[in-house]
Amino acid sequence: MKVSQRAKNIPPSATMAVTARAKELKAAGVDVVSFGAGEPDFDTPDYIKQAAIEALKAGKTKYTATSGIPALRKAIADKLKRENRLEYSPEQIIVNLGAKHSVYEAMQAVLDPGDEVILPTPYWVTYPETIKMAGAIVKVLRTRRENSYKVTADELRAAITDKTAMFLLNSPSNPGGFTYSPDELAELAGVLRGTDIMVLSDEIYEKLVYGGTKFVSFASLDKDAYKRTITINGLSKTFAMTGWRIGYTAGPVDVIKAMGRLQDHMTQNAVAFVQEAAAAALTVASDEAERMRREFEKRARYMSDRLNSIKGVVCPEPTGAFYCFPDVSSHYGRTIGGAKITGSLNFAQALLEQANVAVVPGEPFGCDANIRLCFAYSREEIAKGIDRLERWLNF
Ligand code: PMP
Repeated sequence: MKVSQRAKNIPPSATMAVTARAKELKAAGVDVVSFGAGEPDFDTPDYIKQAAIEALKAGKTKYTATSGIPALRKAIADKLKRENRLEYSPEQIIVNLGAKHSVYEAMQAVLDPGDEVILPTPYWVTYPETIKMAGAIVKVLRTRRENSYKVTADELRAAITDKTAMFLLNSPSNPGGFTYSPDELAELAGVLRGTDIMVLSDEIYEKLVYGGTKFVSFASLDKDAYKRTITINGLSKTFAMTGWRIGYTAGPVDVIKAMGRLQDHMTQNAVAFVQEAAAAALTVASDEAERMRREFEKRARYMSDRLNSIKGVVCPEPTGAFYCFPDVSSHYGRTIGGAKITGSLNFAQALLEQANVAVVPGEPFGCDANIRLCFAYSREEIAKGIDRLERWLNF
């Protein structure tokens, strides 16, 4: 059977591969602790579910405008103004089918073949693939552990060429667990001033920040940043709504219109009654999201403290998202339980097979020295998994 070159060029998602193997082992009766999948372990808050049920009963089951129902676009505009100090009119906003869809569509809307996109390590695995699917070139920018894997102004300046079309910013970061401070963002904005480089700012983890960390939207820094930025966000992480598939994009009118034309011929609108529930999520006052954040904050500290107490493991304490991203490379070169460990891929594989703990190797995130552990699991699970990891490494 013929498969296109385009499809052949796309590797399977590394995060999915570990999760699939962990599920296989679980199905075979093995007691696996999984830190693989990046989704909240909480259920969607009840008031959001109720809004969906009511919308269904009210017959909200038909096509809607491609870019989203007016009530949701208004709710998004109000939210961006209230929480992010960003003024976007409804025509500068499009509702997508998850933020992953937003990223793909934004790239399709602005990138041409040959354009370069600066992608700092560690990066979410979807970014390089969506850049390549748009025909553009991935310019990986290596960051340093000493700077918590954040890009400095000098590093960004050095990565810019006359082909640079976009800088990809993801703060708080998956998988890095770091968050840029307002000052750090202002320095990066200073480097971009005077260029026509766009910024794609993926802000999906904005609400999940810890230890007094302050989140700031890149576009809110100043007028110049506002003009060059495509802001992406969604409901998956903040409201524990991964399966509902709602993301959104806000940015320059021309970009949003272009995304609308693409979406017209791809997916069209997000699910009609889900859009109604999303509007409720963004407008009804509730402390559910904050309750979840507080629990994640405790787990972030617990997991990173435990990891740092293991010999040869170095983990910056997460300031955002729900991942620890420790450097475990001092164990490379060892043979553990008969398996020669040479990098993150066989580290993760041996850990899963021998100690039944599923983590994601750092290699597909551009950092082979690291592994990613999601802490969106109960504290008992975290304790059990880290105990096993510790015993395995001390073997
Ligand atoms: N951006 C980042 C950085 C993510 O980690 C994820 C989810 N893994 C997404 C976007 C996409 O989220 P969704 O499609 O569920 O809205």
